[in-house]
Amino acid sequence: MKRCILIFFVLWVITAFGGYAQKTQVIDKIVIDPGHGGDKPGAIGSRSKEKEITLAVSLKLGQLIKDNLQGVDVLFTRTTDKDIDLYKRSQLANKSNADLFISIHCNSSTSKESKGFETFAMGFAKTAENIAVAKKENAEILTELNYQKNYDGFDPNAPENNILFSLYQTAYMESSLKFADLIQKQFAANTTMSNRGVKQANFVVLFQSAMPSVLIEIGFISNKQEEAYLLSDKGQYEIAGSILRAIYEYKNLKDNTQLTIPKLQALIPDSIYNKKVPEPIITKDTTTATTIDDTAAVVYRVQMLSLPEKVALNDSRFADLDSLWAYQQDGIWKYTAGSFNRYGLAAEYQTALKERGYKDAFVVAFYKGKRISLAEANKLNK
Ligand SMILES: [Zn+2]
Repeated sequence: MKRCILIFFVLWVITAFGGYAQKTQVIDKIVIDPGHGGDKPGAIGSRSKEKEITLAVSLKLGQLIKDNLQGVDVLFTRTTDKDIDLYKRSQLANKSNADLFISIHCNSSTSKESKGFETFAMGFAKTAENIAVAKKENAEILTELNYQKNYDGFDPNAPENNILFSLYQTAYMESSLKFADLIQKQFAANTTMSNRGVKQANFVVLFQSAMPSVLIEIGFISNKQEEAYLLSDKGQYEIAGSILRAIYEYKNLKDNTQLTIPKLQALIPDSIYNKKVPEPIITKDTTTATTIDDTAAVVYRVQMLSLPEKVALNDSRFADLDSLWAYQQDGIWKYTAGSFNRYGLAAEYQTALKERGYKDAFVVAFYKGKRISLAEANKLNK
């Protein structure tokens, strides 16, 4: 009889722990949650809404995971401009048995100077600042139907009182904090933004998820310079690439593997990363176009702004533009971005600039530093 019990016990250990090891040792399903959506825009910047930036960065991150981490499934809580109740986001992650939950958000502040990135894990908020962030992100459940039922009585107005809810994530706290730390370190190494550190607070989008979960505030939409960075392809790729690199590190740690982590540069399309912004070349007495290209080639640029006065090219409103260049014509300063040797490439960039809010952007051509018509450019190129 004793023998039977012993055999049974051994079998139980093998099956229970064998199964346990299988389930937890491989990170192969990741849920990406772009904050807000639909009629819940999140924080509002001067040129953008939080929901737009979170979606753009999330989609880039998803694509990077698919392109680089073979065997890792990516699920999105939304891929379009759609409003999804917060509890449904963690529900999706739980139902799909995901291994990581990443919620992406933008910070905002009444102080235009506030800047930097921070990553939250669920937990007891130690400062008023952290409570304020959670309050803002939680506020949208107040407009959801049946929120009291769906959130077990969570009070979004006083996240600091929801001590009980911190316990939901306790089992994953250590892993969540570890992952948050890896993200912050990658951000610090790969972007020029400032590191606000790993933090904890009670977020409704996190507390019901049954896996390591983080909420990343990728930067301040209320800070003009940071908003421009968050809106730029370069900024979005640097942020998504940093998160991907943190996923690699986390996966190596948890799966006990030694995957080679791609360099940030390798994760960013050449067309975005290798573009250099030339030195400002505006001079006051320039009467004709200044040239940066004396070769006999036609150069196409996208003109997006005309102003009676000269503006410094390092002005924060231009932060997300590439190859910025200005020339004076008939007493008016004209500002262009991009520099291409083919009309088609310039036209593509024009479309991108229009989407970013430069509604009047159009393609202009230059030859030996002089503005020429597109028809003339076409002839010269033949
Ligand atoms: Zn948010």
